[in-house]
Amino acid sequence: MKKNYKAGRHLLQIPGPTNVPDRILRAMDYPTIDHRGEEFFNLAKKCLSGIKDIFKTENHVIIYPASGTGAWEAALVNTLSPGDTVLMVETGHFASLWVKLARRLGLNAELIETNWRRGAEPEKIAERLSSDKTGKIKAVCIVHNETSTGAMSDVFKVRQCIDDVGHSALLMADTISSLASSDFCHDEWGVDVTVSGSQKGLMLPPGLSFNAISEKAWGAYEKSTLPRSYWDWGEHITSNSTGAFPYTPATNLLFGLNEAILMLKEEGLDNVFLRHKRHAEATRLAVQTWGLEVLCENKDDFSNTLTAVLLPEGHNADNLRSIVLDKFDMALGNGLSRLAGKVFRIGHLGDFNDLMLVATLGGIEMGLANSDVPHQVGGTQAAMQFLKQNS
Ligand SMILES: *Cc1c(COP(=O)(O)O)cnc(C)c1O
Repeated sequence: MKKNYKAGRHLLQIPGPTNVPDRILRAMDYPTIDHRGEEFFNLAKKCLSGIKDIFKTENHVIIYPASGTGAWEAALVNTLSPGDTVLMVETGHFASLWVKLARRLGLNAELIETNWRRGAEPEKIAERLSSDKTGKIKAVCIVHNETSTGAMSDVFKVRQCIDDVGHSALLMADTISSLASSDFCHDEWGVDVTVSGSQKGLMLPPGLSFNAISEKAWGAYEKSTLPRSYWDWGEHITSNSTGAFPYTPATNLLFGLNEAILMLKEEGLDNVFLRHKRHAEATRLAVQTWGLEVLCENKDDFSNTLTAVLLPEGHNADNLRSIVLDKFDMALGNGLSRLAGKVFRIGHLGDFNDLMLVATLGGIEMGLANSDVPHQVGGTQAAMQFLKQNS
């Protein structure tokens, strides 16, 4: 019989958007207020100041009413000029979308390719920069956590390589699926523009995105000539000094952001990072026990926020995903572009605890049992054992 109502919680285990906790939902469940009034200015000031602690920066963080893609564009148009060369590492689908965006803006995006199974290799970046004697390359762009493959890149090491070579390029990092779940230090790591979004580690619905900037990035802003209007940093910084925005902000998402920052501080960022690392380890152990392959080949690059799982040749991952969705009301991430049908992705980030992980892995294990994918049982059990031993 067809069911029009599905009882119980839907599990949104894609690697973003993530499950929005009740506290945040309630914090946003208010009438929208005047964004040119005192009450709003107080809220905005709290958000603008609190978000700095999440990026670990003393500098200004711009908040856009936009998806992460907007913040990608903002990072480029505020610092670069037409025809500038940017060095980008193609670690996966999201890195390649940023490349496409850069090219559409008239930038000369130079690529370092990977096999989509690892993070960026800082040595290769250093090699390319050292051959750039005339300083043609204006920026190096890295996706910190590649959400299509589950591989992290060492952003700080990339900074050190740029410095070792003595190159003047700006360093830009996309932390859309790592901020507030894996450690990231905008100032200490010498990042010039950090891009992020609301709907992953920050536990909010989609709709906000961010640019954290450095003094050097601000210097580049003053010289850059790419056209910009909506994304213009200067307009934001001027307005933000009184708690205002240059246009209507996403008021209710800011109610949510304020709550998210409070929650992250209550838990403690270091605890948040440890929680994600532990859940990621337990997940990989489950995958291994099932006899399936984690897509990321390089141990040092394992993501703390998601795991992409390769299915054996001849088995379609979307098939397994639809079994899990139909039978257990859980959404898993699909394989993107060249990985379509080959992998499924488990999101274990945001507002997430041990029992949610056990439910997630249990749902996958039951999905596997309902499919013809060859596998061993016991992955969930192995993860539970791991959680117990590492509590
Ligand atoms: C989700 C994601 C994006 C895209 O962000 P949108 O909000 O969909 O525009 C970009 N980069 C990474 C690493 C992501 O995880």
